[in-house]
This record gives sequence, C-alpha cells and structure tokens, in this order.
Amino acid sequence: MSEQDAKRESKNFIQQAIDADLASGRYSGVLTRFPPEPNGYLHIGHAKSICLNFGLAKEYGGSCNLRFDDTNPTKEETEYVDSIMEDIRWLGFEWDSLHYASDYFEQLYQWAEKLIAQGHAYVCDLTAEQTREYRGTLTEPGRNSPFRDRTAEENLDLFRQMRAGEFPDGSRSLRAKIDMASPNMNLRDPVMYRILRATHHRTGDDWCIYPTYDWTHGQSDSLEGITFSICTLEFENHRPLYDWYCQKLGIHHPRQIEFAKLKLTTLLMGKRHMLRMVKEGYVDGWDDPRMPTICGYRRRGYTPESIRRFCAEAGIAKFNSTIDIIRLENAVREHLNAVAPRRMAVLDPIKLTITNWPEGKVEMTEAVNNPEEPAAGKRKVPLSGHLLIEQDDFREEAPRKFFRLKKGGAVRLRAGYIVDCHDVVKDDQGNVVEILCTYDPETRSGQDTSGRKVKGTIHWVSAEHAVRVDVRLYDRLFTVENPGAPEEGKTFVDYLNPDSLKVISGFVEPALAEASVGERVQFERLGYYVVDRDSTEDRRVFNRIVSLRDTWGKMEAKGKAN
Ligand code: ATP
Ligand code: MG
Repeated sequence: MSEQDAKRESKNFIQQAIDADLASGRYSGVLTRFPPEPNGYLHIGHAKSICLNFGLAKEYGGSCNLRFDDTNPTKEETEYVDSIMEDIRWLGFEWDSLHYASDYFEQLYQWAEKLIAQGHAYVCDLTAEQTREYRGTLTEPGRNSPFRDRTAEENLDLFRQMRAGEFPDGSRSLRAKIDMASPNMNLRDPVMYRILRATHHRTGDDWCIYPTYDWTHGQSDSLEGITFSICTLEFENHRPLYDWYCQKLGIHHPRQIEFAKLKLTTLLMGKRHMLRMVKEGYVDGWDDPRMPTICGYRRRGYTPESIRRFCAEAGIAKFNSTIDIIRLENAVREHLNAVAPRRMAVLDPIKLTITNWPEGKVEMTEAVNNPEEPAAGKRKVPLSGHLLIEQDDFREEAPRKFFRLKKGGAVRLRAGYIVDCHDVVKDDQGNVVEILCTYDPETRSGQDTSGRKVKGTIHWVSAEHAVRVDVRLYDRLFTVENPGAPEEGKTFVDYLNPDSLKVISGFVEPALAEASVGERVQFERLGYYVVDRDSTEDRRVFNRIVSLRDTWGKMEAKGKAN
C-alpha cells in the first residue's frame, strides 16, 4: 500500500467526505459548528461532538462556530448558555464566532413568507392532535390537511396575523407543503411555525410564533456559510428536509453528515434524565462529581486532555454501539499517571510506633514526586517515631503471600526504612490499636547498606505532622450497564448505587496542607484525588477521581457485582 493509500484508509468517513467535497470543488474550505440547545448542561457525549467539530476545523485549517439552537423558549435559560461556553473552553477549544439561532428569527420569518409566496408553505388550522392523526403511520400514508390548498394571498395574510398575535396558542401552524404520502414521515408537510406565547431568554416577548428545529437548523447553518453540518444519526431521516428547504430557498447548501452518538456503559446521559436526577435530588447539582456532565467530570478531577484523548480513541462510527466506561476511566488514569505528583495519605489509619526511634527526632526523608517524570524531582517528608499506616496494610496473622506488615514480619516504609514488627497493643475487645516496630538504621531508602530484602513497601504519614482532610470516595452512580433501559416496572432510580459516595476523613502528608482547589495528586497505592472547591483554609476536601486499578471489572469477574 502506498503511503497515500494508507493515509486515506486511516481516515474516517467524515474526513473522506470532506476530502471528496474539497477535491470536487463543492466547497473551498471547512466551516463546522457545534450547535447545542441551551436546555441543560453538556455531557460527555457532547464532548465527542465538540472534539469532532473543532478538531476537523483545526485539521483542515478551517473554522468552527458555536451556535445556540435556541428555538424552544420554554426550556432554555441563560444559565445553560453560560455553562456551555465554560465547558467548551475548559475542554480546550475556542469558537471562531458565536451565534444564536434566535438572531435569525427575522430572516427565518422572511424566508417563510418567501416559501408561502412560492406555494411551498401554508397555514393549517388543524390542532396538534389532528395534525398527528392526519400524518398517518410508517405503514400508512397521511391525508392532506383540508387547509392545504389555500391561496398564497390567504396564507400570507393568515401568517402575518399569526405573527401579530391574533390567534390563540396552538390554534394554527405554518406547514411546508411537501408530500403527505412520503415514506419519510418528516416530509409529510412538517410544521415550520407554532403559535406559542412564551418569553424567550434572548428575544423576550418579541415573538408569539416560534420556528421549529427543522426549519431553523439548516437555514442557520446556511446563513453562517457552514460547509459540513455534522450531527448524530437520529437526524439522518431529517436530511431530505434539510436539503429541501435549502433547495427551495435557493440558499447556500451545507452538507449534513451523520455519525453515531457516543454511549457509555453505566451512564445516563440525556438532558431529560439528568434534569430529573438534579431536580429530585439523587445527586448534588449538575456538577456533582458522579454526573456524566462535563462540569461533573471537571469537579471530579478529570483532565480535559484525558477526555479529548478518550474521544479521539473512541473513533467515529456510522452505527450505534456502547463503549465500556472502563475506557474513559483508563484514559484519566493514564494521563494522571504521567502528570500527577505522588503524595502519601492514610485514609483508614492505625498507629505504628517505632520503639527504637529516638524520642522527638524528626528526619526529613526524600520522596520521589513522580517516577514517570524525573523532572518532577523530590520532596521532603517528615518521618518520626509515631506514624499512621493503613489498617489494611497490617495483619496480626497473615497468609504467606501477604507482603505487607504482619507480626514478626518486616516491610519497607516508602522513602524510609525497613521496620520489623515485634508486638501489638490491643484494646479491651482484643482489637489491635497500635503496632510496635523497630526500625533498621542501615536500611534508609537510597542509602541501604544492609543487604536486606523485603517484599512489600507501604505508605505512611507522621502522626504529629499529618494534616487531617475530608475525603469523598466517589464511585459509579449506577450499578447496571444501561440504567437508561430499565426492566418493566422499574426506573433508573432502582439502579442507583447506594455506595456511590462515602465521606471519610483521612490524614495526608504536610506537603498537601496548602494544596489549591483543582490540584490533582496520586495518593500512593490508593488512587488519584483532586482538591474540591468545598475546601476551607483549615480543612481540605479531596475528591477521589479514580482508583488506581479497575475494581469493578474484578468484581464482575468474580460474580460479586450486583
Ligand atoms: P441530549 O438530549 O442527550 O442532551 P441532544 O442531542 O438533545 O442531547 P443538543 O444540545 O441538541 O443535545 O446537542 C448538541 C450537539 O451535540 C448536537 O450536534 C448533537 O448531535 C451532539 N450530541 C448530543 N449527544 C451526543 C452524543 N451522545 N454523542 C455525540 N454527539 C452528541
Ligand atoms: Mg436536544
């Protein structure tokens, strides 16, 4: 295969379509757009569309617009507009120009009059319900509206009266005159305008008729000179209508190309569902770190790089499929493994006392910040005779393969010494409350002259130097693959994971006392954590971004997941 062939083969079908249209001269450049409806916060699926549209523009030396498709005044709010802009920028993209479909309302109205004058649109007095009835079904053709044959003059007059507010809401509509027998339901005289008295977040009460999505979208693309209008598969059936409007109006004609929506296991994405989760309090707002929203991932501690990388690797498809959430989790693990400094934190502490340590002595040990990144250097961590370690790292009696600390055994303290456990202190119930060890002065990390080898290394903090923090252990919000497809009689609420959030307190090394909001670290041997905005001067709050390894996969393999 020639190099050129190889390059062509590795391009996805959208890039191939663009190449073809540039080669044939249909378009001379690439102008894309990201067109959200401001009726909710963006989710990870939108990130895919953002990366695709902005990415193609960059790849081809073109531009990408941000356009708010704000044609539905009852559901749209400025709060959503602001959050969408913030999320796109956080992902690392900047639009070339910003637009609102509502800015085109007057032009759209004029174009509607043009279609009426040409005999391509008519005012229909059927109610919404009747319109639906007349539309027919997938197997039966529709019937013509009794109002279909009004003259252009009569239609124009009625349409102007609609705009002037002379009819009640829902009493009439403007419809395109196409074909009530078309096998494509979208071509059965689709509605272009409905009468609706609602205050729009930008145009206020200027309008009492609002254009439908289909009548707005393509014409907005056209007005902006968009060349490639990329959308998701559910709009494939709308493409003939998109094309019909552009042709009848004789305006610039963008090419609509559809791709499959991104879908991920265990996530419930659609705005409708997310709104319910927020409104009914199953989560703590749109940016709850368990939400699939971009602001949720941001607060959770995900990096924009990892989301972009994930979207690129997920690829572009023509058919719907579901991607395992593990791939997104792995993307953030991979990125943080490369960039996050290591710190020691003990989240489930037990005391460890070094009995031969000179009382009051504090030694500053040197710990490597990131073994993946030598340039990250080292930091000093205070080591004393009174430490805290994880309960889990100690067993009074342990099987042979337990390589952490056990009574009579030895372990290395990260960046410190080898300690030997000779005894424990117990409470009245017989629980171990303190571990007694001696340290071996010849085994200092990096300067070990003892020749001793131990299998395990554990993390620790010095009790008197440790900083107390709150830790939020986040886990998946749903316990099933597809919470969006509940069994009969159930809803997504039945699949909420009762353990999706545990709040505990823990102890971290002093280097983290001043950590700022948004700072990400690896708690050694535990996972990746980020400083939450709920932190205060004297109490930092850490969110778990992701554990070091995938525990769900293991549970499923053992049949333990429920
Ligand atoms: P939802 O109801 O899930 O919020 P939507 O499609 O109604 O999604 P829009 O605001 O209309 O949301 O979407 C803006 C753009 O993002 C559209 O071009 C849409 O096709 C795209 N998009 C939405 N969801 C996904 C997804 N899961 N994967 C890829 N692109 C998506
Ligand atoms: Mg939508």
